[in-house]
Amino acid sequence: MTTATLAGPRKVHVPLGERAYDVLIGGDLIASAGEEVAARLGRRRAMIVTDDVVAPLHLGALSAALADAGIAAVHHIVRHGEGSKSLEVLARTVEAILDAGLERRDVVIALGGGVVGDLAGFAAAVARRGMPFVQVPTTLLAQVDSSVGGKTGVNAPQGKNLVGAFHQPSLVIADTATLSTLPERHRRAGYAECVKVGLLGDAAFFDRLEALGARALTERIDEAVATAVAAKAAIVVADEREHGQRALLNLGHTFAHAVEHCAGYDGRVVHGEAVGLGLALAFRLSARLGLCPTADAARVEAHLAAVGLPMRFSDLLVDLTAAGLRAAMAQDKKVEDGVVRFILVNRIGDAFVSSSVTPDALSAFLVDEGLPAP
Ligand code: NAD
Repeated sequence: MTTATLAGPRKVHVPLGERAYDVLIGGDLIASAGEEVAARLGRRRAMIVTDDVVAPLHLGALSAALADAGIAAVHHIVRHGEGSKSLEVLARTVEAILDAGLERRDVVIALGGGVVGDLAGFAAAVARRGMPFVQVPTTLLAQVDSSVGGKTGVNAPQGKNLVGAFHQPSLVIADTATLSTLPERHRRAGYAECVKVGLLGDAAFFDRLEALGARALTERIDEAVATAVAAKAAIVVADEREHGQRALLNLGHTFAHAVEHCAGYDGRVVHGEAVGLGLALAFRLSARLGLCPTADAARVEAHLAAVGLPMRFSDLLVDLTAAGLRAAMAQDKKVEDGVVRFILVNRIGDAFVSSSVTPDALSAFLVDEGLPAP
């Protein structure tokens, strides 16, 4: 992975052979998005997919930048929120691309958070059997995590992200100035994915974030996004289709997905908040199993709490039970032969995949974490 700090944006190159692409990170990058897209994909036509919150804030600037570079763009606006990651909204998005008369080499651009990126990326993967796709992530979560790596998809009634495809973007433009309009709750949620990168493989990065305390949410954000993107890109390049190492990116996510599933994706818990709690749980479970120092679990919890992330089940406005969470975990994509795989830790910066957490040990842990058993 090469990471370049130019006079302008930071650039992380993701070397995936013929699917290689750049991630540009910096302030006010939307203004030059048209030039960057045209330089890589030519002056093709574009469909911008965005949501009804982001559209009034950033769609005008992106459309103007594309027009300046001679790219004719139409747009498709979906309702904000996880509910738009559905097969119904996917179908309408693909139809919008086809109705607009876009050809196979035209480009689909996702402007928004992880919901829009996952939806638009999947639409680009299947429309005309695959169209080029550009990510313009506008949440911290999407900038540090979901816009890089090529996982796209929607949710099914049976569970989250169960229908999807690997489809790498041709370019990612992470304009950190767009974060100025992002509500603090979503900034915190995205920050959980940023911290995750340090916790799973880069202790020095966690040390730097920890030293900033709550200021890490706003200070040195370009640097944090670039570090997180470079770390994610390295893992993706080593294991594009998640046969091994990429699973480490799921640190905290077995718990998080189960919490989200039980909460019903109704906005009471957003993904990154569930991830924040999931990170603390992964460390506490590892400490309980004697794998990781309790002092590390305490440091993780202290830092995440300092930025305002939920650290206990009781911090959530959701009624959960140990049995309900276990049932949700059994639906997780990471289940193999009926065994739930957890990402556990030896210490901060050293995570590994474990299939050895028994159902009884898990139940006892969840009850000790304050959940009723049935
Ligand atoms: P989101 O896309 O729902 O965005 C959060 C909210 O912020 C939305 O209401 C959105 O309208 C609003 N918003 C977005 N940008 C804004 C801005 N600049 N100013 C003001 N408001 C803004 O949620 P998210 O947290 O970005 O993404 C969560 C999704 O990402 C989940 O569906 C999760 O499964 C997915 N995800 C995917 C991957 C992957 O590898 N593909 C990785 C992690 C998460």
